[in-house]
Amino acid sequence: HWSRICERLKAEVGEVEYRTWLRQITVGPVDEDEITLYLPTRFLRDWVRGQYGDRLGTLWNAEVPAIRRVELQVARPGSASAPLPADGAAAAASAVSEDTPPQPAAAPAPAPEEPRHAEVRSDLAAPLDPRFTFDTFVVGKPNEFAYACARRVAERPSSPGFNPLFLYGGVGLGKTHLMHAIGAELLREGKVSVAYMSAEKFMYRFIAAIRSQSTMEFKEQLRSVDVLMIDDLQFLIGKDNTQEEFFHTFNALVDAGRQIVVSADKSPSDLSGLEDRLRTRLGCGMVADIHATTFELRISILEAKASASGVVVPAKVLEFLAHKITSNVRELEGALNRLIAHANLFGRPVTLEATQDVLHDILKAHDRRVTIEEIQRKVAEHWNIRLTDMSSARRARAVARPRQVAMYLAKQLTSRSLPEIGRKFGNRDHTTVMHAVTRVTELMEQDPAFAEDVELLRRMLES
Ligand code: ADP
Ligand code: MG
Repeated sequence: HWSRICERLKAEVGEVEYRTWLRQITVGPVDEDEITLYLPTRFLRDWVRGQYGDRLGTLWNAEVPAIRRVELQVARPGSASAPLPADGAAAAASAVSEDTPPQPAAAPAPAPEEPRHAEVRSDLAAPLDPRFTFDTFVVGKPNEFAYACARRVAERPSSPGFNPLFLYGGVGLGKTHLMHAIGAELLREGKVSVAYMSAEKFMYRFIAAIRSQSTMEFKEQLRSVDVLMIDDLQFLIGKDNTQEEFFHTFNALVDAGRQIVVSADKSPSDLSGLEDRLRTRLGCGMVADIHATTFELRISILEAKASASGVVVPAKVLEFLAHKITSNVRELEGALNRLIAHANLFGRPVTLEATQDVLHDILKAHDRRVTIEEIQRKVAEHWNIRLTDMSSARRARAVARPRQVAMYLAKQLTSRSLPEIGRKFGNRDHTTVMHAVTRVTELMEQDPAFAEDVELLRRMLES
């Protein structure tokens, strides 16, 4: 189980994050519904608990449904089965529930909460991450439409035209964040019952219900919620029986005037492998696309997260990160988190040099992506000019503008210095490159169509 969970985690958080934090985990004993995981230091334990506690709980629960809680403890490396007595006790004493809240029937001990009208259907759903709210979601051009739709659904679920709400976009662009935010908002308002789960969990639950011959119960539970949110629907591709079940649940809920929110990595029409009738119904409400981040949005996100951390991160460093790590917000966050952890650990100020040092491996991984030659080729193709004109002395606008864009992209997407970039463009001076970067930035602000062209090129080069 653990090696499968590790594979999943690696895919989700990236190799570097995985190696820095998660590889240090060793698996301890299982006690009824709780599994113990060991980390070598208190710092690592707190960090992993804060960053990955919920996710570990969810993944374990998906692998082994009987496990409902993950306990993180400190243990000496190499003696995973024997936690340090003092710290182990402290860890146990401060242990918080990492996963699903205790179920009413199973845990009568703690004082029951005040009855609320709103509830997360914990018998059914995954817990909501308290960090993912509308307040902590940074809005910009690429996500403002999806954000507005999510807000609208949270305010008035089941409004005509917004049911189902279908959110789609690439990895790490905020789909899960928005879904959790909808859930949190609805619960705060206290009007409805909400169930959120990944499509994967939906399938596991469905299969478990078949095994234990309780599919009726499962269906009833599902159909009793006011708002059902299913994340990463693309997971159901090729899982025909689960798709069928989801389709029926979907219809029953929508017909009963309940709200459905679904996310996927592609639009309904591009989700080939999902049944046609399901795709059709998914596209019937509101379909909202989250686009790749822009530089401005990445800066805003970094600023928000840095200021929330309390560590002073200079604007130069934030700009550097926003230039270098363009693929997804999760990676950007991961890089910033590592910087902040280092600053806290060693008490040193965050500088550009320190950043390059601490994030050496991440930055290298992002560099390998694209070469200046590739950029020149793609840009020349896009504007239909000859590749040789990237280095030629011609100054006609039809040639000079694409050349400037290529320089701009070279600066953004590679770690080459201005003089190095200049050399690749027919031995031009570094000030020419600098001018190109400024000019393209200005033009992108003035001319949305041009900005879109450049963003498109960037996206093509990055994928
Ligand atoms: P997805 O589900 O689309 O793969 P997530 O919602 O899991 O992406 O987002 C990945 C990480 O990036 C999360 O920690 C999330 O909080 C953060 N994130 C993504 N977009 C934003 C945003 N606009 N503002 C703040 N944080 C964001
Ligand atoms: Mg997600």
